[in-house]
Amino acid sequence: MTNEPDQRGDHPAPRPTPQLMQCSSCGVDASSEPGGLAAARVTWTFGTERGRTVWTCPACSRRHARSMEGRLDSAWW
Ligand SMILES: [Zn+2]
Repeated sequence: MTNEPDQRGDHPAPRPTPQLMQCSSCGVDASSEPGGLAAARVTWTFGTERGRTVWTCPACSRRHARSMEGRLDSAWW
């Protein structure tokens, strides 16, 4: 018999739920992605830039991560 409370005092802050989500980098519309906005809110990266919420699609997040690593790429060759 488990005594696990299903109501917790502190809920994690919900992510913003915009009506329109576009990648700040490539401009792709989240509603055109597989799963639509609901999936994009989970898979996309979001951050705040000058007080605005900005979204980045997974492909661009990867590309940005690579370009940052690119500074160390001499070991690859
Ligand atoms: Zn993108």
